[in-house]
Amino acid sequence: AQAAGGDEMESVRSYFNTQGFERWKKIYGETDDVNKVQLDIRIGHAQTVEKTMAFLKGGDGLKGVTVCDAGCGTGSLTIPLCEEGAVVNASDISSSMVEEAERRAAVVLEKNPQLTKPVFQAQDLESITGKYHTVVCLDVLIHYPQEKAAGMIAHLASRADKRLLLSFAPKTPYYSVLKRIGELFPGPSKATRAYLHAEEDVEQALNAVGWKVTRREMTATKFYFSRLLEAVPASS
Ligand code: SAM
Repeated sequence: AQAAGGDEMESVRSYFNTQGFERWKKIYGETDDVNKVQLDIRIGHAQTVEKTMAFLKGGDGLKGVTVCDAGCGTGSLTIPLCEEGAVVNASDISSSMVEEAERRAAVVLEKNPQLTKPVFQAQDLESITGKYHTVVCLDVLIHYPQEKAAGMIAHLASRADKRLLLSFAPKTPYYSVLKRIGELFPGPSKATRAYLHAEEDVEQALNAVGWKVTRREMTATKFYFSRLLEAVPASS
């Protein structure tokens, strides 16, 4: 097993400031200069965002609710959250990603000046301070091995008062085989290592810090797959 920690984080940061930024900006965009695989990932990821929004909008809605979008990428979740009236803190380890998210949000804010402008920060998620009603972290854990992911989950839970939503690529026999034969993460995305996480390991990391899973969702297209968990403090 590879040692978890600083070096891994540095290589992820550097990837998402360079080739990764170019690749994911396209995938998470609307232009048609994407190949078939990238289009499939775009469609799958949009479904994860939709399912996350459906979880978050339920109950009392999002108006005035503080939400921390950890590893916000180009703002695919930040922007719909903001449109629903949430008070969003959006951060990412890659400053290029944060700048792109800010640019995309500015377009929406210009048309809807009544919305609260999200606070954007370039920082790794373990440096996030403050407390939020809800913390969300979509498709970030895939870049880290389980030993590292457990610490990240603990930190994210410590920043959330009521609710934590996490998505990750689930480790199942089927996906493990696909990953091994190179069917998944095709092309340039191989520039970073991708880690699958066993759902029970993620759940255990949550339980260890006093949180319990309340809802689950799954999105799977041909090249994209993501398990979404909602957790709340076990005492609630
Ligand atoms: N959450 C966004 C979404 O779903 O649209 C982006 C997902 S993208 C696959 C992964 C993002 O996680 C990248 O923007 C990357 O820079 C960011 N990231 C990776 N490691 C991180 C860390 N340790 N802290 C914060 N962000 C991180």
